Formats: sequence, C-alpha cells, structure tokens
Amino acid sequence: MSDKVLIIEDEPTLARLVTYNLSQEGYETEVVGNGAEGLHRAVHDDYAVIFLDLMLPGMNGFEVLQKLRQHGVKTPVIILTARNAEEEVVQGLRLGADDYITKPFGVAELLARTSAVLRRSRNDEGKSVVPSGGEKVIALGDLQIFPDKYEVFLNGQWISLRPKEFEVLLYLAERPGIVITRDDLMNVVWGFDYIGGQRTVDVHVSSLRKKLELNQQSVQIESIRGVGYKLIVNRKASAPGR
Ligand code: CA
Repeated sequence: MSDKVLIIEDEPTLARLVTYNLSQEGYETEVVGNGAEGLHRAVHDDYAVIFLDLMLPGMNGFEVLQKLRQHGVKTPVIILTARNAEEEVVQGLRLGADDYITKPFGVAELLARTSAVLRRSRNDEGKSVVPSGGEKVIALGDLQIFPDKYEVFLNGQWISLRPKEFEVLLYLAERPGIVITRDDLMNVVWGFDYIGGQRTVDVHVSSLRKKLELNQQSVQIESIRGVGYKLIVNRKASAPGR
C-alpha cells in the first residue's frame, strides 16, 4: 500500500505545516492548492490518506469529497475545517470523510489522526474473525462482541446489554477510529421514522460506558462535541490519574 499523502489545501502555511510534519514521520507528501486538481490526482493516483481543506478556490472540499466517493475512490479522507464549524464536520462525514481536524491544530493531533485513519484502513480485513465453523466475533481490547448472538463479553464475563445498546456498540465497534454522527446512529439503530430525539443516543452511550466500565478499559467511546461518537482502542489502558 502507498505511503503517499495528498494534501489539498490552498493556504501555503498550513500546507507546509502538514507536509513538514508528515515527511518527518516518513510519509511522502504532495500538495495541491485547488479542488479540481486535487480530485484529479486522487482519482488517478494511489494515496494512503488525503487531507482535504473544505474552503478551496473553485471546486470546494465538499464537492471534491462527493465526486471522489462517486468515483469509487475509497482512500481515507481527513477534512480540515475551521473552528466551531460543526455543521461542516457533520456534512463532511456524511459525504464520506473518515475524520476531521479543526484548524488551528497541533502536530501531535495531526500525527495521531493520520496514524489512526491509516491503522483503521489497513486493519479493515483483519478486524473481525470468523473461526472455522464458528460464528463471527469482533475482538476489541478486552471486549468480544458476537454480532449474531447479540452478546458481549468483557474479560470473558458476559455483560447484559439491551438490544439497542448492543446495536449502538456494534455499529461503533465495526468502525473504530471513525467519527459516527448521532444522526447516523439514530438512523441505523432506531430507523428513519423514529421520533425520539438525539438524546436517546446519548443515553444509550452513557449506559454502555457504565455497563462496560469503559473508563477503565482499552476500549473507549469518545464524545465528539456537537457531532457524535467515536470508538477508540488503545494499545494499553491509559494511566490512571491523568
Ligand atoms: Ca482554504
């Protein structure tokens, strides 16, 4: 798989910041300052990840993203958005972005998000395991999820979840490291015609966190303010008292 990163960004300073830090980490980078050319390259070349500014001259980032996905290009896309632009983020995720970074951002965040998105796209196949003759199981840190049986085990202990809690967990668990909007969860778990508010989603996530003691686990459900949730798996649980 390619280690090349495409940066579609018209602000030279920002493009340089991203380029510099990614090259330090061993990535090969290409910068394009407008949407049309960015789209052209993304469609015709192979990249490990694409950074996409939303506010671009000519074709904006939303159009680029939409056309990219219409062309069947599955390269992970991290959108670059302005601060306090939650609607932009939500729209970008709907159009198929994998994650987002809010400007201005730090180097640590840039690198963390890049490697998370890459890890996820590279592990896509190996994530769930179907033992021979057995049933599908998703293993995430100390959690084992059995989609067919609606069962979850934490360190080998069976955890009692309500069906909707299970479905929320499963949807997040199948997409680790990816921001899932509340709308998505509502639609997938409750259906388009459900009348309850998005608060329902929050209630189920809090309940999951409590039942699975997620604050003490390597698996965590992060809240993305105003947007939704993201399930993350750390190599080891974070040190207490941080
Ligand atoms: Ca811009």
